[in-house]
Amino acid sequence: MDRTVKTFFKALTYSFVIAAMSCQGGKSNNSAAENATLFTHVNLIDGNGEVQRDISILVQGDSIADIGQQIDSSDYEVIDLNGKTIMPALISTHVHVGTMKGTENNADFYTRDNILSQLKKYQDYGVLTILAMGSDRPLLFDSGIRDSSVAGLLPGARMYSAAYGFGAVQGGPPAAMGMNQVFRPHTEAEVPSEMDSLVKLKPEVVKLWVDDFGGQFPKMPSSIYKAIIEEAHKHNLRAASHLYYLSDAKQLLQDGVDIFAHSVRDNVVDDELLNLMKSKGTIYIPTLSLDEFAYIYARKPEWLDDEFFKASLEPGVYEMITSQAYQDNLKNAPNYQQNVKAFETALQNLKKIYDAGILVAMGTDSGAMPIRTQGFSEHLELELMTQAGLSPLQAITVATKNSARMLGIDQQYGTLEKGKIADFIVLDANPEQDIKNTRKIAAVYKAGKEVSKGPLSND
Ligand SMILES: [Zn+2]
Repeated sequence: MDRTVKTFFKALTYSFVIAAMSCQGGKSNNSAAENATLFTHVNLIDGNGEVQRDISILVQGDSIADIGQQIDSSDYEVIDLNGKTIMPALISTHVHVGTMKGTENNADFYTRDNILSQLKKYQDYGVLTILAMGSDRPLLFDSGIRDSSVAGLLPGARMYSAAYGFGAVQGGPPAAMGMNQVFRPHTEAEVPSEMDSLVKLKPEVVKLWVDDFGGQFPKMPSSIYKAIIEEAHKHNLRAASHLYYLSDAKQLLQDGVDIFAHSVRDNVVDDELLNLMKSKGTIYIPTLSLDEFAYIYARKPEWLDDEFFKASLEPGVYEMITSQAYQDNLKNAPNYQQNVKAFETALQNLKKIYDAGILVAMGTDSGAMPIRTQGFSEHLELELMTQAGLSPLQAITVATKNSARMLGIDQQYGTLEKGKIADFIVLDANPEQDIKNTRKIAAVYKAGKEVSKGPLSND
């Protein structure tokens, strides 16, 4: 499909929406100074992998009007950010929203209130754009939540959606976890009509699940996923697959998959896979935090008692994960060692794939389960990417610029440059050397307006 054309039309849609929004205000601002703020003495991480020191950023309306050393401050409201760092807002391209509440997942939790409160949580953590990967329900589309959210008309993170996705009959994703909207074709012949009803919802990508979940479930046959991918392409949609095994990754590539929505975790990737991914332009979303969450609570991670982590949890989850029963269960699980190994393999594979020049975007699978907590996971993912061998600035570029490219919104989002939308995080400390400093959030700005002072503030 032609991504340039798609990006262009997206840009057009946004410009229209934004123009409409400014008209709604009812007054035209002739003075350039009105509605403009100059942030001075900024340490700017721009998302392109560069750092600009002691720079000024002029934000006018929803956009960055200028960045430079010599901007005359006399016309504008000035905010002195001496000692602080600005980085682009995070973009998480594999999350789930609305089916989780408290310590459980259930389709009944999927309400407007629950969705909006989770979008607000992402926003508090500086995550301003997300892609929900196949766990959504009719409410999101029927009531216009997705469209309003993407257009920036709702508070919280802008929510893109893969809608319902395709799973295996009697297999993954488990229907019991609020996933009963997922299409589960028995034969290739069922795919076209199911795809037709999915396409009506304008999903961002077509999600599919190719995995036996550690031998628990039957895996989707390759003849069926081939049909899904081909049908998606007929509708100019990209196919994004859940996967685990290297052999499935190769078959999926042969069958035309566009995006890997998780890491390859059973084996270290080989040159055959790297060459295939490079030649096909496959995008890789490692979701390392998911694999760490599969075992790490048994080891009492250093961040377990950080308020920044605890503030992200649904009620009851902290008590659950620190309970003796939960701890014992994890440690005695037959797949405990395998989960540790899978995480370590995922780290190795990210480094190899990144070094091969393949586009890596950030995703976490946050929100799929209460232990994969929304907002915190995205900051943990940054840390885990550095543990895999990326530099802090490289990890930030993955989570901003690259993720915007994955969504086709990089003309306006993902980097902080003149003309781009002013989506950014103000940090009390510089993450350039220590990536954990992305957790020192002083403020979050969405489209030029301060929308949060971080998850630890009281408002
Ligand atoms: Zn997922």
